Amino acid sequence: MKVAVVGAGWAGLAAATTLHDAGCAVTVYEAAHTPGGRAKRVQHLPHDGFATPLDNGQHILLGAYTDTLALMRRLGCDPDTLLVRQPLCLAALDGGFTLAAPRLPAPWHAAVALLSARGLPWPDRLACLRLMRGLRGAHWRVPRNETVKNLLARYAQPARATRLLWEPLCLAALNTPVELACAQLYANVLRDSLGGPRAATDVLLPRTDLSSLWPEAAAARLTMRYGHAVHTAAPDANGVDIDGERHEAAVIAVPPSVAARILARGPAHELAAGLADMRHAPIATLTLKLDAPWRLPRAMMMLADDPARGHYGQWIFDRTSLAGQHTGHTELTIVVSAATALAEQDREQATRSLIEQVSEHGMRGGLPAMPRVVGTALFIDKRATFLAVPGLARPAQKTAWPTLALAGDWTDTGYPGVLEGAVRSGLRAADALISRAT
Ligand SMILES: Cc1cc2nc3c(=O)[nH]c(=O)nc-3n(C[C@H](O)[C@H](O)[C@H](O)COP(=O)(O)OP(=O)(O)OC[C@H]3O[C@@H](n4cnc5c(N)ncnc54)[C@H](O)[C@@H]3O)c2cc1C
Repeated sequence: MKVAVVGAGWAGLAAATTLHDAGCAVTVYEAAHTPGGRAKRVQHLPHDGFATPLDNGQHILLGAYTDTLALMRRLGCDPDTLLVRQPLCLAALDGGFTLAAPRLPAPWHAAVALLSARGLPWPDRLACLRLMRGLRGAHWRVPRNETVKNLLARYAQPARATRLLWEPLCLAALNTPVELACAQLYANVLRDSLGGPRAATDVLLPRTDLSSLWPEAAAARLTMRYGHAVHTAAPDANGVDIDGERHEAAVIAVPPSVAARILARGPAHELAAGLADMRHAPIATLTLKLDAPWRLPRAMMMLADDPARGHYGQWIFDRTSLAGQHTGHTELTIVVSAATALAEQDREQATRSLIEQVSEHGMRGGLPAMPRVVGTALFIDKRATFLAVPGLARPAQKTAWPTLALAGDWTDTGYPGVLEGAVRSGLRAADALISRAT
């Protein structure tokens, strides 16, 4: 079967790899010139003196990302060497909070982690455990249209536990503030991470840039049409025309607004309805270069935010220790999810405030004074993920057209806009086309 895949993000490449392995002749149309979509390298060469290429944004994977890890292995990209695997440890740089999962079997790892959380008084720890037990007892189902804020109120979560644990987890996983975020998607994330087997809670941090992790290995096996922004996908009963070129089937794996545009021009315009209305939230990533060593106690740490002071940072990563390149300098990455307020600020002011936040929190956490900053790179992806609000109508990967499937983190995956959702959507889209062809 001659198949087109439109979009070489993690969803499109997962679909293309599966179709290729099933014996299809796959052509991938990609508007950009590097594979990986929103999880890709954006600098080909060391830039501004950074030791390794920068990505569109720092990404973390979880042990629960089983389909992504299996796909990497299938492509010969060994997750054990390309990713640093660490047991879950949420430790604030300022020393105010630590939650660490011990190497115990489930569910004890999560229970002990919550009950031994430093920075939370005993009643808060018990309240956290009550939430996890309540969700498990309800088979991880929550009332329709409930927000995370309402879920936390229903389980009487104290303000401190909310601020130190539940809110940061919600922002990290759903990129949506608790007042707006969909409780069912949050419950699904908790089910597959803290509520899953111990290994599912492990945090996996890339040692390489994101395109080198596996997208380039996938692209090397496929026919890639880089620099081709598709205008029209027109399906019929026997095939799909992609900008006038005939294929027997196609997977559309582009963001929802683009999918809406290219489908609206063809006979499958009914699929486009509503897609363009999905709202998005930004993520900001600031990379810093310091002129002397300044090792963080852990490769990934939390930052307590203080929006009133422009201290929007939520997570900090030690790039130097992750890349294993100790050159006398230090490189750090600071991440801000749901970064609407930061995105409205002047970029230089935003950078200065984040540097001030990191320096203050490091001192409070007992680190020596932060060395001088000699390089900065601020990326703000304004459409980083869809806003994960309750009641979103997310289309299935299988469509009414036997020759056409959809993929992307925004399709119906049961996950928020994350890498594992993107990969799963791609696998399902490929399976839908393969099962119809056989
Ligand atoms: C800054 C940032 C940080 C993130 N952090 C995390 C994290 O820590 N963990 C996590 O799991 N997830 C994270 N995510 C989310 C994750 O990156 C996405 O869920 C995932 O990359 C989406 O993949 P996708 O294939 O569905 O879409 P995309 O990556 O958007 O892929 C779509 C592709 O289609 C191409 N395209 C667009 N228009 C056309 C056209 N007309 N013709 C041809 N090609 C076209 C695009 O160039 C792109 O390559 C983060 C996202 C961002 C932006």
